[in-house]
Amino acid sequence: MWRQLKWRIVGGNMAVVIAGATLVLLMTQIVTRMVVPEPILAEVQHLAEASDPAGAEVATAVLLDTFRGTIITAVLVGTIGAIFVGWFSSLALARQILHPLNQLASSSQRIANGRYDERIPIPDSAELASVATHFNQMAQALATIEEQRITLIGNVSHELRTPLTSMIGFLEGLMDGLFLSSEETYAPMHAEMQRMQRLVDDLQTLSRVEAGAIEMQKRPFFLRRTVQQVLTQIQPQLVAGQLLVVVEGKETPIFVHADPDRTAQVLLNLLSNAIRYTPPHGTITIHLSRSEQFAHVAVRDTGSGIPTDALPFLFERFYRVDHSRARKSGGSGIGLAIARRLVWAMGGDMTAHSEGLSQGSTFTFTLPLANEQS
Ligand code: ADP
Repeated sequence: MWRQLKWRIVGGNMAVVIAGATLVLLMTQIVTRMVVPEPILAEVQHLAEASDPAGAEVATAVLLDTFRGTIITAVLVGTIGAIFVGWFSSLALARQILHPLNQLASSSQRIANGRYDERIPIPDSAELASVATHFNQMAQALATIEEQRITLIGNVSHELRTPLTSMIGFLEGLMDGLFLSSEETYAPMHAEMQRMQRLVDDLQTLSRVEAGAIEMQKRPFFLRRTVQQVLTQIQPQLVAGQLLVVVEGKETPIFVHADPDRTAQVLLNLLSNAIRYTPPHGTITIHLSRSEQFAHVAVRDTGSGIPTDALPFLFERFYRVDHSRARKSGGSGIGLAIARRLVWAMGGDMTAHSEGLSQGSTFTFTLPLANEQS
């Protein structure tokens, strides 16, 4: 029983009441023995001596005993009253404290069992209200994580189902003799397999970058050189897409402190998107600049643009502006999520801007400048 907070609160209060009453009783005993109400005593003695001098002492003693007895009875009655009041008030106090704590315990149990919508009412007391508010915030965070987990599983299975269905269709066609065992049959199958592999690779990269498991090999390097390397790498796609590339700000040497390979990966992702969403004869501009602490890389295209209401969701996993997820749009919708995480891991940030559909888009990322310039 004493392990329960309720009885500890009641017991503590009772101990205070009883100790106080005992002290008052003791003091009453001492004080009434030492201090005699002099004027009353003198008057009684005077009266007793006048009528019966022999009985004066007895009368005084009786009076003193009655006086002490009355005070002690009054203190005892007061003590019993205090015990009652103390008992009920401590039970009320215990209830006020324990009720929210019990609610907290049962709610956390329900959350542990997967009921993430569980919330507790906010009590009046400031301290308990703060505990309850933090508890509800934690429950909300868990609910969001759970929602993201469910969405992720849904998205992954959706993404995998499409190529798998297509592969099964090809294989059944082959088994039934509807398709010939030729390159025309195998090429689309091969493309589907590659698509699946890309998706699985992307998912693995995303999970590693989100878990902080990708080690960054940060070192100072010239941004312009990396931009040049990436441009050389995607030259064939630029030619195929009949796109013009302009690099602005390359005359200022910008020396950054980041992982050059990951920087190239981010740039490649932005340029691939720009190529994918820009029609032939469009222009892709890479603008390099620097502020006090950061280098800024903006990739601007004259392509399809992005509706303003879609901008806040671009960096979410599997988000695609084209909600029908037309497969012709190509990617799995996690490229930008990976790119932004990589930039974050290097100490920078990434933003997207577009004036709307058909207005082109600009993706900008920052990287910390290296200390020494050369
Ligand atoms: P995906 O692999 O589908 O391109 P991303 O994460 O790279 O996935 O991009 C998410 C979505 O953002 C794309 O599906 C596309 O709708 C939009 N997007 C990205 N870059 C551009 C761009 N340069 N122009 C227009 N839309 C873009």
